[in-house]
Amino acid sequence: MPAELTSAEIPFRVGQGFDVHPFSDDPERVLVLGGVRFPDATGLVGHSDADVIAHACTDAILGAAGLGDIGQLFPDTSADFAGADSIELLEEATRRVNGAGWVVGNVDCTVILDRPKLAPVRQQMHDRLSAAVGAPVSVKGKRTEGVAGLGGGIQCHAVALLVRAPSSPARSLAAPENDTTEGFPS
Ligand code: MG
Repeated sequence: MPAELTSAEIPFRVGQGFDVHPFSDDPERVLVLGGVRFPDATGLVGHSDADVIAHACTDAILGAAGLGDIGQLFPDTSADFAGADSIELLEEATRRVNGAGWVVGNVDCTVILDRPKLAPVRQQMHDRLSAAVGAPVSVKGKRTEGVAGLGGGIQCHAVALLVRAPSSPARSLAAPENDTTEGFPS
């Protein structure tokens, strides 16, 4: 690696996302995780569908691209996003990341919850999330056995890798004149 290589010339970015929503008392709220509905489970409180996995993935890719966070793009004060399908928000965030000259390499998620079990729908979650970002998205469930006091909700952590799009002018290892990652904190 050339000694003079700067962060703006590195063709990868890593981003981290986190989200948590509490369980709802409203029996009408349907639990949605990774774009999959759990009709028999307790739903989560949220302005959108409260899909913590999709939200954490969204923040991970936006953070990696230096494009802000989910609250800036899709404010929970906007009626436009009331009851929103969070997979659609993730798709829109992906379009913006792609527009900034990046493609998603992969996303890895850890969901912290004691209920419900994710294993039966893990493949469905993988499929929906992966289709949304155009790259593999893995989802791992982690039960706390109650020790972490997380019975009141569900959390998700996500890590995303972005790779410069092959057509992006910023891909060159020469100093990019057209770097689309303006605002990225170097
Ligand atoms: Mg959220």
